[in-house]
Amino acid sequence: MSKVLIVGGGPAGLATAITLAHHNIACVVIEKGSWPRDKVCGEGLMPTGVDFLHKYGVSDHLPHDGYYPFVGIRYLDGKIVAEGKFRSGEGFGIRRLHLSGALLKTAQSFSCIEIREKTRLKDFSCDADGVTALLLSENKHESKEEFAVVVGADGLRSTVKQIAALTGTPPGKQKRWGGRQHFAIAPWCDHVEIRWRKGVEAYVTPSGSCRVEIAFLWDRDQFKPRKENWFGSLLELFPDLQEKIADCEELSKAQGIGPLAVGCSSAISDRVILIGDAQLYLDGITGEGISMAFEQAEIIGEVLPELIAKNRLCKNSLKVIEKKFSAPAKRYVTLTRLALFLTRHPLLRRLAMRALSRSATCFQHFLEANMGTRSLWKLPILSTWQLLWGVFFPKYVNSFSAQETLRDVA
Ligand SMILES: Cc1cc2nc3c(=O)[nH]c(=O)nc-3n(C[C@H](O)[C@H](O)[C@H](O)COP(=O)(O)OP(=O)(O)OC[C@H]3O[C@@H](n4cnc5c(N)ncnc54)[C@H](O)[C@@H]3O)c2cc1C
Repeated sequence: MSKVLIVGGGPAGLATAITLAHHNIACVVIEKGSWPRDKVCGEGLMPTGVDFLHKYGVSDHLPHDGYYPFVGIRYLDGKIVAEGKFRSGEGFGIRRLHLSGALLKTAQSFSCIEIREKTRLKDFSCDADGVTALLLSENKHESKEEFAVVVGADGLRSTVKQIAALTGTPPGKQKRWGGRQHFAIAPWCDHVEIRWRKGVEAYVTPSGSCRVEIAFLWDRDQFKPRKENWFGSLLELFPDLQEKIADCEELSKAQGIGPLAVGCSSAISDRVILIGDAQLYLDGITGEGISMAFEQAEIIGEVLPELIAKNRLCKNSLKVIEKKFSAPAKRYVTLTRLALFLTRHPLLRRLAMRALSRSATCFQHFLEANMGTRSLWKLPILSTWQLLWGVFFPKYVNSFSAQETLRDVA
């Protein structure tokens, strides 16, 4: 038996099926809901995630107006505006329903991928011969099926993780929640905009020619939204946003999710691999969740086919996958912790934003480090100096930015 059971039909699950199908590995993807899947998300896909969509032909299945390109990130903090552009490529503001639909259509184009919706994993057990999974379909029909390996791509409250006893400590203690809603309005910027208030950030993602998503992330200890019209109570903290969308049609219901941080004791066990949010999630603040799931899916596609062929699927053999997962996970946790630290220290945050507002090179460097295309610690010496100078002597940084602009132009 060489079939892979993928539990969860979100970005991580479908992307894994697609990368494995490229190596002719047969998969069954089960999803407890139905496709296309919606989910609370900032919907900003970074250029590395967009590269995945192009590489595997997923972007061919996106509807014409299902996404909107953006060129970077813009922070607005009082009078401070810090703007970072991607060095190369563009991000997509992409409605989750359209991303889900495009991933599904790509998966359906492979005969070796079997897609089953309204089917959930109830239980499974592993032995030397394989995985026996108990699946429950919509009509309450239970079936026992055999697989070589199970991939848990079942999100923040992963059943696979629970059954495999891989639950671990979350990588952060902050109790953060997220929520979002879509509005019919032409995007007013080609960046994802982030606004800050005490304990709350607002994210504006353009996701269509006449669609903008507003998402919030907030710390429950610092801000408690009203029970009635909770989305409105968050929006009130950002009067300029409130004004912009005042008369706009609502394109979706406000939805929220939390607490966000989850961890695992290990990403693998005998014949079990955890991926995406099921493996690790800290916060949406760096907008990296989907791209990281795609990166992990590619790792599985590279490594698992050979392990299946050799029937080397015990915990020790799967460690190679966990090792390869560790670089993106470390990068994600480091940068997310850094960003969360700034949410708890408004003065430092303002100083950092002010410094970034004066150094486009530094901002670009952080964006690249976030995507894993450059090491966080390899900030050019001049940029480090500019950043520190901007933090400690914000009034005297204009001369540097002028030099930098001249250098950029040269
Ligand atoms: C507020 C917020 C903002 C965010 N902003 C961004 C952003 O801008 N950019 C970005 O890249 N990421 C962002 N993220 C993160 C991103 O949404 C997640 O990282 C991403 O959805 C993870 O994909 P996944 O497939 O692992 O999990 P999910 O998308 O949660 O998919 C899991 C699937 O598994 C299914 N499932 C669960 N249990 C079972 C079961 N027992 N049997 C069968 N199916 C099951 C679920 O129904 C679901 O469809 C944000 C997250 C939040 C909360």
